[in-house]
Amino acid sequence: MQSARVLIDGPSELVFDYLIPEGMPVVTGCRVRIPLRNRDSTGTVLDIGEPPQTSFRLRAISSLIDPEPLITPHLMKLGKWIADYYVAPLEMVMRSLLPESVRQDTHSEKTRKVVAIKDFPDDETLAKLAKRAPKQHIILTLLKSSGGQMALKDLGGGSVSSSVKSLVKNDYVEMISEAVRRDPDADQEFLESKPLPLNEEQAEALKIITAPGQTKPILLHGVTGSGKTEVYLQAVQHALDEGKTAIVLIPEISLTPQTVQRFKSRFAAMQDQVAVLHSHLSQGERFDEWHRIRNGQARIVIGARSAIFAPLTNLGIIIVDEEHENTYKQETAPRYHGRDIAVLRAHFEKCPVVLGSATPSLESFQNTQSGKYELIRLTARADAQTMPIIRVLDMRIEAQKQKGRIAILSDRLRASMEKKLENGEQIILFLNRRGFARSLQCPPCGHVCECQHCAIPLTYHRTEERLICHMCGYQSITPRKCPSCGDEAIRLQGYGTQKVEEVIQKVFPQARMARIDADTMRRKNALRDTLNKFKAHKIDIIIGTQMIAKGLHFPNVTLVGILNADLGLHVPDFRAGERTFQLLTQVAGRAGRGEMEGEVIVQTFTPHSPSIQYARHHDFDGYAEQELQFRNQFLYPPFAHCALLGTRSTHERRAEFTLENLHKRLSKDCPGQIEIGEVMPSPLAKAHGQFRYQLMLKSTSARALHQHVQRTLAATPPPDDVTIVFDMDCLSF
Ligand code: ADP
Ligand code: ZN
Repeated sequence: MQSARVLIDGPSELVFDYLIPEGMPVVTGCRVRIPLRNRDSTGTVLDIGEPPQTSFRLRAISSLIDPEPLITPHLMKLGKWIADYYVAPLEMVMRSLLPESVRQDTHSEKTRKVVAIKDFPDDETLAKLAKRAPKQHIILTLLKSSGGQMALKDLGGGSVSSSVKSLVKNDYVEMISEAVRRDPDADQEFLESKPLPLNEEQAEALKIITAPGQTKPILLHGVTGSGKTEVYLQAVQHALDEGKTAIVLIPEISLTPQTVQRFKSRFAAMQDQVAVLHSHLSQGERFDEWHRIRNGQARIVIGARSAIFAPLTNLGIIIVDEEHENTYKQETAPRYHGRDIAVLRAHFEKCPVVLGSATPSLESFQNTQSGKYELIRLTARADAQTMPIIRVLDMRIEAQKQKGRIAILSDRLRASMEKKLENGEQIILFLNRRGFARSLQCPPCGHVCECQHCAIPLTYHRTEERLICHMCGYQSITPRKCPSCGDEAIRLQGYGTQKVEEVIQKVFPQARMARIDADTMRRKNALRDTLNKFKAHKIDIIIGTQMIAKGLHFPNVTLVGILNADLGLHVPDFRAGERTFQLLTQVAGRAGRGEMEGEVIVQTFTPHSPSIQYARHHDFDGYAEQELQFRNQFLYPPFAHCALLGTRSTHERRAEFTLENLHKRLSKDCPGQIEIGEVMPSPLAKAHGQFRYQLMLKSTSARALHQHVQRTLAATPPPDDVTIVFDMDCLSF
């Protein structure tokens, strides 16, 4: 007799062994009913093997919940890997693999009542009915003219129920219960789009991706507008033609509605085979989409990062669009990176994986340099348009003109806006606001206070009145004068989108404008609606945060203004330069997508930063080369792994003390390849009533790092009122 190791549903993450009754077809990934103490419980089978030698008698599984395992073996393997690598409880990983609505049996199929012709009466009876019971006659004629059946609701619902009852009694019709899919896009129509004839570069890319036996991960580096999406579409078609399935990951559905629309349109003829997974689905919709995928009805899954766990079998391709995007990293446990999991899943399932971007992450790019990934390039815009001109504006001069007051709009940008508005063209203004960390910059000279050891900006901590390095913990006093030029105008950077809106409204009172940021876009579909209005030219100017940087295509936009490139550049993060380069390139790609030439104006206090200069010349390789040198010199990813260990508690001292204690334990018997930073308050030092402390870990060996943390955490359980956070390969800190 064999036994199963079962992960019990519930918050406490219990794992017990149970005997498998003779003949019960239990396999890993199945959900089962089991006895737990003196009640019934449910759980998921993690493993099957010989019963362990124990002194007490094992109890047996009571029954099997699903006839087929809900979690496929490949996904099971993936789940265990994630739990191990990201040091996350397996139970939590399982929750990601099996959404709540699927694990609980309460969201069953939705059905509707359909009336169907059973035995249609002859003409004579029909004529009699027309006189005696006109309503019944009408129903019969309606049914006949619409192919023999109709939904009860469409026939009139409750108002016709007695007539329908009589018809059923006479066996003229029957009532059927039919499952209906809760289709999240039921209100939209998609016109089928035909595949475009590929240009030479695209054709070559498709050939490599679809080559038989292609299992090496592929980085598709194509400039904005080079037709990557067309390549994805045809690669997915190829997988379907081979009878296989496909996953397409996009950064965030609500931010990239156009990409979803393009996929839905291309596969419009087989709409039922396309499933879309995202966070705005209702529980019922999620249940239906998930089961349509699991039972093979849906063969293409489009979704944000968690769609990588879609229970497809016979996977033929995985595509990760905009692979450099931060949103692929989950910010709550398990803190996995969707792109990395995509590569791993493709490896397990032996299928090709395509990571696409106009601005690849340095991690992926370095993998092409080391030969782990294949690099494919699309170097020209598919519609033969030229790249937009990027102008860099030195705001130090503007600051002098305005005598130290913050200049939001330079004269040059204002003049350009005026002209575009006169011509009836559209404008996007972009403000890069992210994170809470604030650094100190001197407007007259552009100087930013940095850590000598880590080459990242120091962060201002209000409570301590100090500058702290978020990498190593180095502290310094806050200077009153600029250390570089001696000016006293040195100040914290920053103003928000709301402030910009005020200013623009004053300068251009006639212009119709909309603001797109986290505050204005809370309502479901708010972004989609605003973008549709912009497309219909009911809006002249959009002011937005990074929400508008992604995958948009507006032919009438001829000017993109980046208001303060430094906001994203001088954040205390070694990826700040990379992100600024990406952002400038992506945003610039929004301009000039139609007939007219595009113009981009970048306002900055540090016009000579490499990320700005290389972006200006559309030179990814040049940028990557110098950035990789910097990463190598200071041992940052992709040459090392960084992880954040943090504590959170309503008692400040306890959050700090617990982390100090962990720091001590980590430092003892620490493997040589691991560097451990100092304990410090997080940039967001208090949130949701909890104080936060953190320290950074760095290592060339991911394995050494997560294993050391895993061991230490297991040996040092935190007090009840302190929560531990561990973020392997953290993106921000
Ligand atoms: P990317 O995804 O690389 O930004 P897109 O796929 O959005 O680029 O393509 C940009 C534009 O070029 C789109 O309007 C698309 O329809 C068009 N396009 C793509 N491939 C071709 C092609 N082979 N021939 C003509 N137009 C194309
Ligand atoms: Zn430092």
